[in-house]
Amino acid sequence: MGKELHRREFLKGAVSIAATLTLGKAEAAEVPRRSFTELGKVRTRPLSGDGITRLLDGVGLNRPSGISVFKDLNARILDNTEALRLSQEYVLPLQALPITTNYLALLESRKVPARFLDEVHAFNRLHNPNYRIQNPNAVRPGQMVWIPDWNTGFYDTPEERALEAREVMSGIPYPKLKTALEQEKNRGQKLRGIALILDPGHGGEDPGARPIALDGMKQEVTVSEAVVVHDVSLRLMRLAMREQAEVFLTHFSKTMGILDERGRFPTWVPNDTYNIGRGGNPDISIDDQDRSLRTRELIAGGLVRGRKLNLKKTAFVSIHMNSLPPDMDPNKEVYTHRTDTDTLFANAFAKNMGARRRLKGLGVLRGNPVTNNCLVELLNMANSRRSWILRDPSQRERLAKELMDGLVSTARQGIL
Ligand SMILES: [Zn+2]
Repeated sequence: MGKELHRREFLKGAVSIAATLTLGKAEAAEVPRRSFTELGKVRTRPLSGDGITRLLDGVGLNRPSGISVFKDLNARILDNTEALRLSQEYVLPLQALPITTNYLALLESRKVPARFLDEVHAFNRLHNPNYRIQNPNAVRPGQMVWIPDWNTGFYDTPEERALEAREVMSGIPYPKLKTALEQEKNRGQKLRGIALILDPGHGGEDPGARPIALDGMKQEVTVSEAVVVHDVSLRLMRLAMREQAEVFLTHFSKTMGILDERGRFPTWVPNDTYNIGRGGNPDISIDDQDRSLRTRELIAGGLVRGRKLNLKKTAFVSIHMNSLPPDMDPNKEVYTHRTDTDTLFANAFAKNMGARRRLKGLGVLRGNPVTNNCLVELLNMANSRRSWILRDPSQRERLAKELMDGLVSTARQGIL
């Protein structure tokens, strides 16, 4: 209630200020990358590779509420897509206003409580390229100050921030990754209405298989299954989201992301992975292997209950690489636990991927709450030729595509 009132006043104030500000134009036009083409509004042009998240990161307002204000402000330009166009200017969720008398009067004119003085000052020092104020209590009039929009979450109390963080944890885990991927979302429809829970095998304290491979100089290198399957899982997530699937991960590494650097294996960092449900679920990154498998099931269960995924077509896919004797080179394998319904999905998925279907009561599938569940072994990492080519991101992308094609065909048959 109080917040809504503030908001209306904030917006109303914006109109009158903009009307009185025709003189500061020349000064404001010098801002690199940003130009105040309309006074009061701060506009920016994305650079190559920028998405909404990165633009907002640049001004420290990348929180879910900041993103939604950005979308509101730019609704007409964004249309239905979240992709940004390079030549387009976008309005940031903040305003540039000159100090006419003193700092507190400026804040007051925006209905920003005086206690935010230090925060607004710190925000400007960090993000506003034209800001020269050293001491906010002794300011000469004329400086342009950036004031974040009321609804970006900038003025939230610590309790409100914690609440938003909790909502993010339960609703959209790994928000930055998901927001970034969502920007390329609306491209196809092939997995519309389908939810996927992807389980990158291993992670945290558990590196998975660690075979030795020979690099291009015939030097021995140790390769870690956890790192490779994490990358493949994120690639599959990206492909599936482009086709409208709702995708969840059982865990996610903040430091690894999708690794596009060529020619080098991503390195495994022990305990790097964090559990998406830190608030409620145990953390797989410190659990031993058995508990870690059970935890994945718990996380899947939490998603099924919390997001009502049992009402949707949902599949759980655990992604692994085999570690067999090096000369064994089987095709992909799809494992499933033995119940009639899983076998239906796993059979079709395996067939559509050209994989062998195998039956085994594997830990992560035994008590899994998602009916359509399976574990995929993509290739034999102990085969050094096989594992070494995985340092090439396009090879990992190829594996993700094969999984994706299998899912799409299975969905098309109505089995998923
Ligand atoms: Zn494995």
